[in-house]
Amino acid sequence: NKGAVQRLDAAHHLHPFTDSRALRQKGARVIERGEGVYLWDAAGRRILDGMAGLWCVNLGYGRQELIEAAHAQLQQLPYYNLFFQTTHPPAATLAATLAGLLPGELQQLFFTGSGSECNDTVVRMVRHFWAQQGRPERRVIISRHNAYHGSTLAGASLGGMAPMHAQGGLPLPDMVHIDQPYHFGEGQGTDPDEFGLARARQLEQKILELGPERVAAFIGEPVQGAGGVIIPPASYWPEIQRICRKYDILLVVDEVICGFGRTGHWFASEYYGLQPDLLCMAKGITSGYIPLGAVAVGARVAEGLIDGGEFFHGFTWSGHPVACAVAQACIEVMKQEHIVERVHDDIGPYLQRRWASLGDHPLVGETRGLGLLAALELVADKTTLARFPEAAGAGLVCREHCFEQGLVMRAVGDTMIISPPLVISREQVDELVDKARRALDLTLHTLSN
Ligand code: PLP
Repeated sequence: NKGAVQRLDAAHHLHPFTDSRALRQKGARVIERGEGVYLWDAAGRRILDGMAGLWCVNLGYGRQELIEAAHAQLQQLPYYNLFFQTTHPPAATLAATLAGLLPGELQQLFFTGSGSECNDTVVRMVRHFWAQQGRPERRVIISRHNAYHGSTLAGASLGGMAPMHAQGGLPLPDMVHIDQPYHFGEGQGTDPDEFGLARARQLEQKILELGPERVAAFIGEPVQGAGGVIIPPASYWPEIQRICRKYDILLVVDEVICGFGRTGHWFASEYYGLQPDLLCMAKGITSGYIPLGAVAVGARVAEGLIDGGEFFHGFTWSGHPVACAVAQACIEVMKQEHIVERVHDDIGPYLQRRWASLGDHPLVGETRGLGLLAALELVADKTTLARFPEAAGAGLVCREHCFEQGLVMRAVGDTMIISPPLVISREQVDELVDKARRALDLTLHTLSN
């Protein structure tokens, strides 16, 4: 029962990204079951999961195809490693399937257990590549402030989350950051495309400041997810790509959130016209049913990995057969049900239209979105777009009112974000937006008392 689970949890369980004392005083919300786009808590309340878990349960909960794929693979071969010059059907098949979906030259796959491990793998691959080219001094990786690339030492260092850096002396050496293309937060009053260009050109300034001979790669999320669904102005990515090419800097795209249909494309790199040298994926690859990540590697870097002798890197769970089988089933369901096309042509535009209707609310300073990603900015003054004081905790107030309404919506500061399962119906989008509006009304009421 709920109380017993909460007591065990409070006594022994340290939660990720959580203030444990505050949680223990309150008692964790106990989630017991999921079906489609809904979760049920221990009190039997139905909650619309506007975040698809953590941006991952793209096919919704309870998909028998995925469950059966896991079950069949567990019976056939629950585990075998890929270190001993061995392979197995699920890993080999999935690598080929992914190569068929990926843009351009990304034809080689390295499997990991998570998005964070993908980014650690990227660091090791990139440095190995330049060392093989006789350029070991090319070690610096440039990222953005407020980026999220995971929680391992390299992931958190590449990420630009100041509180993560503050705990434990990060970033690691040779990982530096430029400003993000966050127009609402940092570019108000400027033309979005000029702002996007200016932010992209910080990359060139940083390369020149460091010396191009020291720079190995640039990494970015096509749309920053955990940073607050920050959709860059159209001018941004082409300029980043141009600068990378000009200085022969490897371009790494972190599609851990954006991949697998989230933006209405298999990968957001297609949408932004990017030809990355390396691309990270995780989360939606298995619809979140089981942990798996993969780094896709373009021809130039792959050549070094294939011909350069042993690459001293890998994980016990690299290419775990059960995870690969689930990913394969997930991709097959996505193809059969035309999930990506549906996000692009139908449910994505529908959600964006309905979401934009929240823009008339007195608390909302901006709405934005792409595919089935969306955000809105809470403001204290709709005319000046002034924010609430941090102490008001407006985002958290809104998040709690969403929960009361039976909706999971995430707060990043005062930016409210959604990333619902890609299988959400129009009626469920209406429910999501109606609940969000009621939560905004209640938030206005709470904040003005
Ligand atoms: N990269 C991005 C863009 C992410 O959003 C995340 C997780 O949210 C990660 C990497 C880290 O992935 P994981 O939590 O699977 O390690």
